[in-house]
Amino acid sequence: MPKIKRQKVKKPKMKIKEKAEPSVIKISKKTPQVLRGFKDILPAEQKYWNSIRKKTNEIARDYGFERVDFPLLEETALFIRSVGKETDIVEKEMFSFEDRGGEKVSLRPEATAQVARAYISHGMLNLPQPVKLFYIGPMFRYDRPQSGRYRQFNQCGFEAIGNIHPVLDAQVILMTFNFLKELGLNVNVQINSIGCPNCRKEYKVQLINYYKTQRSDLCPDCKIRLTKNPLRLLDCKEEKCRAISEDAPQIVDWLCEECKNHFVKVLEFLDELEIPYNLNSRLVRGLDYYTKTVFEIWPGHGQGGPISPVSAEKPEGNEEEDKKAQNALAGGGRYDNLIELLGGRPTPAVGASIGIERTILKLKEANIEVPEQEKFDIFVAQLGESAKRESMKLYETLRKEGIKVAEGFSKDGLKNQLENASKLNVKYTLILGQKELSEGTILLRDMEGGVQETINYSKAVKDIKKRLGI
Ligand code: AMP
Repeated sequence: MPKIKRQKVKKPKMKIKEKAEPSVIKISKKTPQVLRGFKDILPAEQKYWNSIRKKTNEIARDYGFERVDFPLLEETALFIRSVGKETDIVEKEMFSFEDRGGEKVSLRPEATAQVARAYISHGMLNLPQPVKLFYIGPMFRYDRPQSGRYRQFNQCGFEAIGNIHPVLDAQVILMTFNFLKELGLNVNVQINSIGCPNCRKEYKVQLINYYKTQRSDLCPDCKIRLTKNPLRLLDCKEEKCRAISEDAPQIVDWLCEECKNHFVKVLEFLDELEIPYNLNSRLVRGLDYYTKTVFEIWPGHGQGGPISPVSAEKPEGNEEEDKKAQNALAGGGRYDNLIELLGGRPTPAVGASIGIERTILKLKEANIEVPEQEKFDIFVAQLGESAKRESMKLYETLRKEGIKVAEGFSKDGLKNQLENASKLNVKYTLILGQKELSEGTILLRDMEGGVQETINYSKAVKDIKKRLGI
């Protein structure tokens, strides 16, 4: 074999750039804290969350809505296309980033867009319509944190897809209203119609013409809204802008026949159902996908008293009302064009979402009692190693018999365990010591009267069940 002459490989003169080191995160030695705008939900809070979850399930069952769960992370484009490019949520509030594959993704700021996406991708148009779905879970918005406003918050929502009838608008409003009312809150409905793209086009011209005459007095944000998102001029919270909005043309005067009839029918249903509502011409909501009916549920005045009367008047512009608007407990409306906009067939839909943290804040503010976490009936106390082992078996037997039982296995002293039992407010404590173990008995202490008796160990479970009426 001929010898192959090795060629000398010339080193390239160009300096090859070293692969960038992954950015080094400086790790502080301080104890990590929860992020601003995020919060932990500790055991003491859970009774409120349980009440809300229970009410969500009850209301969904009563009105025929089925549960869906969606990922927390979606393509960013889903929200840009549905919520709208020039909305506060998309412009300022999304947690968006590129994943390791270079895909642009966002933590969901809301779930209606996901409902629409899922309706299309799972071919739900082939199911009997309307398809009624509900969800419950966390949303993320990089908002300025304050009371009732978090960067991770939870919503439960109800969406009815595939039918245009105004009865569905009324039903979604009714169930949202009932949800809050049945939790004990005094609430009222703020409602408006923002028409369809056809009637809105003409209205926007009128609105812009009016606001142009007031341009110099508008806040900087509204000056931008004037060209980018004129409808949102109406719900600016700045005092000056609010005053200007008083005399702005009202969209209800510009609705096309179809939108007007639809709105009148929704109101007729609400009248029939005696739901207190307020026609609020400033209510436009901050998301682009809404058409026709939009609504919010606001806390009412005080608890237990009458809710503000049904009125067709413009709400008065005052600070109090501002606060309420920021504290809307729930919001929703129709979104007849969203599914088509995302590539599905034209499919009308209507939905609502309820802010869970804000609802809990209101429940607390109004001192509304919610059921405590499930209570224990029995406490198993033990003294000595063999008794500890036996009492673990007894505990299992009691638990399997459906008895709500607590224990003090990790404690050695009786005093300690009895104190625990009292804190848990149990009716009886079973005490197993070495003596009882060898005699085949167990002590039964009535925690209310403090009376203690010795009972037969083998009959203890039956005895307890009898006393508890199980
Ligand atoms: P939206 O999805 O903006 O229509 O909001 C519906 C409801 O979610 C509101 O009425 C609030 O109760 C709640 N909500 C919206 N944003 C936040 C937030 N940043 N923090 C807490 N709750 C919120």
